[in-house]
Amino acid sequence: DTKPDYACLKPAAESKKIEYPKPDGKLSFDKLSSVFLSNTNHEEDQPVHLRLTDPNVPIEKNLPLYDEPAQRYCPAGVYEVVSNDDGSKRFQINAQNCVHCKTCDIKDPAQNIAWVAPEGTGGPTYPNM
Ligand code: SF4
Repeated sequence: DTKPDYACLKPAAESKKIEYPKPDGKLSFDKLSSVFLSNTNHEEDQPVHLRLTDPNVPIEKNLPLYDEPAQRYCPAGVYEVVSNDDGSKRFQINAQNCVHCKTCDIKDPAQNIAWVAPEGTGGPTYPNM
């Protein structure tokens, strides 16, 4: 199969929304609890390691066509679509929580996100594994 994964994404209008059950805290867990267990950390003043080639793509293209999939495929909740006071939307990147899986680099339908190696030793350390 030579077709890249990002080129196989179906538009949101052709897809059925999946309602996931809430995490029970025993067998299933919310994203941020799992990020906490990974002991992920990046220096707050380091250069951002998640870069957008075109900062307008998430809201202008990915949101209307794909309901901006980064909100869902990122396992660490790094990407959020946030409403401004005036009703407009903005794409927020919480790079501090990134667990370095590189899904965004591979999966973004516009190939607009570049994951670059973070400064120093930032990232997850999984101290209890
Ligand atoms: S590399 Fe993984 S954890 Fe980090 S922002 Fe991309 S999808 Fe999220």
